[in-house]
Amino acid sequence: MVMGVGTVVGVGVGSGGVVSATTTGLVCGHHHLYSALARGMPPPPSEPTSFLGILENVWWRLDQALDLEMIEWSAKLGALEALEAGCTAIIDHHESPRAISGSLSVIADACNEVGVRINTCYGITDRHGSAGALRGLAENDRYLRELSERDDDGMRRGMVGVHAAFTCTDTHLVDAAELAEAHGVGVHIHVAEGPDDIGVADRISDLTRDDWLLIHGVHLPDDHGLHGTIIHNPRSNMNNSVGYADPIRFTNPIGLGTDGIGADMLAEFQLAYVAHRAADIGASPDTAWSWLDTNRTLFPEVERDTVTWSYDTIEPWHVAFTPTINVIDVDVDGESAVRNGVATRVDADEIRAKATEQAARLHSALEEMP
Ligand SMILES: [Zn+2]
Repeated sequence: MVMGVGTVVGVGVGSGGVVSATTTGLVCGHHHLYSALARGMPPPPSEPTSFLGILENVWWRLDQALDLEMIEWSAKLGALEALEAGCTAIIDHHESPRAISGSLSVIADACNEVGVRINTCYGITDRHGSAGALRGLAENDRYLRELSERDDDGMRRGMVGVHAAFTCTDTHLVDAAELAEAHGVGVHIHVAEGPDDIGVADRISDLTRDDWLLIHGVHLPDDHGLHGTIIHNPRSNMNNSVGYADPIRFTNPIGLGTDGIGADMLAEFQLAYVAHRAADIGASPDTAWSWLDTNRTLFPEVERDTVTWSYDTIEPWHVAFTPTINVIDVDVDGESAVRNGVATRVDADEIRAKATEQAARLHSALEEMP
């Protein structure tokens, strides 16, 4: 039986002693685990007044300050928080221009140690010159080769990452598409998030395939003609003031992501529903709920995972209006990963303490940056 996210596979009494329901694991369709240490970061040198300004003043400074140790603990913290929210698989998009080589394996190891499935990629870009883009391509290739040499336990996957067409040359877009095809995977790329990427459809229309992940699509025309799953990130889009993607206008499959703001997919569903409703009085939470089901098709191994919730009706019309639904237990591949809300495979207190130390290092590096 295929169990949807909304399919209650059991109702009973969880190990916390409360009435509960059990579902399959949730999937985050687009994440940036490196951003887990960003919260509380020092303010940018100047206040951004546009989406490009947010990228230049916040995210493109942050990613340059990352080293492998920060990446490891940000991934562990992000994975821990995902598991605590019932999310057992993360589709991650990574960039760390001063620590590229080996970064994807550090992220995959960190997530698997916590007990979370991971699909990661390195977002190539020409922002740091052609050599930088090639180093990013090489890291995607290295990681995907490493995966092909491992026994497949369903815990880690990969794609080829591209930051966005507007920061890549046509040559490197083609290189990324060809590398992905050679490895039998798709490309994971931000598409038309802000007005700076208008025209992206013309540049990549001959490259996209059904296994691509097209992130955002806020400024894509309805009839863009691109192949792949569009991942909608409503909280991020609001936070960056880029507008409403209105994803139901597309014929592509639609999934749901957080774009680095945690991995609480029930919270993202709630926001996706009200954003949809704000634009359309006739909107039903069933639509945003179906986006969680699309996510599950992107990492089907989560059907082997179970999450027991502190609420007995995990269905769209309930979850949309229920303030707090806690995770009691999580099993990944039939083995315990959370019991009574506490991670069992790692020491959650240690991860939070180490992540706090690494966040302090990251924030001081940012303060020293010009
Ligand atoms: Zn993103």
